[in-house]
Amino acid sequence: MLIVMQVDAAERQISEVVSVIMELGFKAHPMPGATRTAIGITGNQGAVEATRFENMPGVAEVIRVTKPYKLITLDLQPEKTIVHVGDATIGGDELAIIAGPCAIESRAQAFAVAETVHKSGARFFRGGAYKPRTSPYDFQGLGEEGLKILAEVRDVYGLKIVTEALDEAGVDLVECYGDMIQIGARNMQNFSLLRRAGRSPLPVLLKRGIAATLDEWLLAAEYIMAEGNYQVVLCERGIRTFAQHTRNTLDLAAIPAVRRISHLPVIVDPSHGTGKNYMVTPLARAAVAVGADGLIIEVHDQPERALCDGPQALTLEQYDQLVDEVRLISEASSAVLVI
Ligand code: PEP
Ligand code: MN
Repeated sequence: MLIVMQVDAAERQISEVVSVIMELGFKAHPMPGATRTAIGITGNQGAVEATRFENMPGVAEVIRVTKPYKLITLDLQPEKTIVHVGDATIGGDELAIIAGPCAIESRAQAFAVAETVHKSGARFFRGGAYKPRTSPYDFQGLGEEGLKILAEVRDVYGLKIVTEALDEAGVDLVECYGDMIQIGARNMQNFSLLRRAGRSPLPVLLKRGIAATLDEWLLAAEYIMAEGNYQVVLCERGIRTFAQHTRNTLDLAAIPAVRRISHLPVIVDPSHGTGKNYMVTPLARAAVAVGADGLIIEVHDQPERALCDGPQALTLEQYDQLVDEVRLISEASSAVLVI
């Protein structure tokens, strides 16, 4: 159920509604919007009685939610969410660029890439310290040592650190060293991890699962939000199909599809979405044109020596070129479109 407050509802009236929700043993999610506050209710197994709220002072409307999601939806918050990562944002006017190597391999490698990322004007640095590899014999990441290198990158360049947590203990560590928790495709339905991220003060980058439908992806975001963390960014990173010319099939139609349902920002990962160096820039351009709020791009100073995902890594020069191109497209899009 969703309770929409009157435009001029007082703080006291909102708190009163929240109190009644809590007394019923449910969780209240007040979302202050530009024109009105709406309050989502979670934690109820069956229907909540609308009559309890309809006549409370300040209440404009009580809406029964028939969809499986309650908090990600535009019904609750018609304005787009802007996710704050320190003083940087995702979902605002500026195209967010998150770039860096797939895995942190050494201090020298991380700093070589970070320097270019910083110079490009991007605000976010990515890099895995814990890698979810298909084979247990492949490089698994440097672990906490990798996180320490990432923290140094932040101190030197002021870049915000986006890094993956593979499990709940990993979230504790990312909270110590990073700025944004990445939940990977393979973990999109790891519900205890989603719940843990939902209790974190850090924003979350939620990748779409390898074979996830739109609903499953949005419900994974709902798990995080239901715990009280509303700072969630969705990331389309390609899904498994019969196609063999790419590593994954990048589903750019997911961007307008998400927009129609959710207020959450959505970014695109053309690196994992294609798996091929030569496809990354064209798909990045397309992603921005279709309305993505940002891009996450894998970059390496020596892709041929990368310990993880070398075939899709851009060189430093290719990355610079990509940034120039997507910025032009972003400016042109915002000049002609209201997406
Ligand atoms: C990554 O970003 O390096 C990664 C492992 O991504 P995904 O979870 O989308 O495969
Ligand atoms: Mn990777």
